[in-house]
Amino acid sequence: YHADYLHENAYTETKILSEAFNKMLGRLKAQDDSRQEFVSNVSHELKTPLTSMKVLADSLLIQENVPTELYREFMGDLSEEIERENKIINDLLSLVKMDKTASNMNIQSVSMNELVEKILKRLRPIATKQNVEVVYQSFRPVTAEIDEVKLSLAITNLVENAIKYNSEGGWVHVTLNADHKFCNIEVADSGIGIAQEETEHIFERFYRVDKSHSREIGGTGLGLSIARNAVVMHRGAIKVFSQPGEGTTFTIRIPLVYVAPERG
Ligand code: ADP
Repeated sequence: YHADYLHENAYTETKILSEAFNKMLGRLKAQDDSRQEFVSNVSHELKTPLTSMKVLADSLLIQENVPTELYREFMGDLSEEIERENKIINDLLSLVKMDKTASNMNIQSVSMNELVEKILKRLRPIATKQNVEVVYQSFRPVTAEIDEVKLSLAITNLVENAIKYNSEGGWVHVTLNADHKFCNIEVADSGIGIAQEETEHIFERFYRVDKSHSREIGGTGLGLSIARNAVVMHRGAIKVFSQPGEGTTFTIRIPLVYVAPERG
């Protein structure tokens, strides 16, 4: 009986070990796959503006006596493509910074009211240009332990999107509130909205709902993944509610007291 018992025990232990091993292997494989997919996506995204630049430059080069008008038009297009490439690279750098471990979190006690006001001050001119009204409401003074640079990036991306994907004469409402444990930031807009089936994908890297329309508006598809990473690094949550044609609301919930995220 005793030997049997031992045998059974060893068997169970081996089984547990091999299960754990398989699980780890699966996780590593998934990580490797997603890394490979990311690199291939990055290459593709970086190549697209380059291809356009090459075509624009070449078509000017093969023509003799290019009319000034045409020359200026092509140079304008070239400049736009360069700007686009620059935007993608900047977003990628932000994303890579965000991907590092908790050790690169620079945590400080920050007035969230001041932080949001600072962000909105920077973005108001863009909203005015698009004829979008930005309204800010804060219910109380809120101080939270955060990495200011990272969380700023998240809030900035949400407000930028709320302005970008809005309609003529639309509004953006930014609300700051807190309970005894969490800081809540809400960014609501009267914009084009997001279809239910798209909302699960918008936080993915490079994902854009309507590619041609987004391209016109000029995004990289990285903004929301940057925002989500920043929020997750604070052990917070980011959520989206949307009604196509009526508007979208993003909410960020961040613990007032910082707790380092778990590794893995
Ligand atoms: P992008 O650089 O294209 O704006 P994001 O990652 O910031 O990339 O957003 C992903 C996609 O989600 C956008 O291309 C857009 O289609 C959609 N989206 C994001 N925010 C909003 C919003 N406030 N209203 C409507 N659509 C939005």
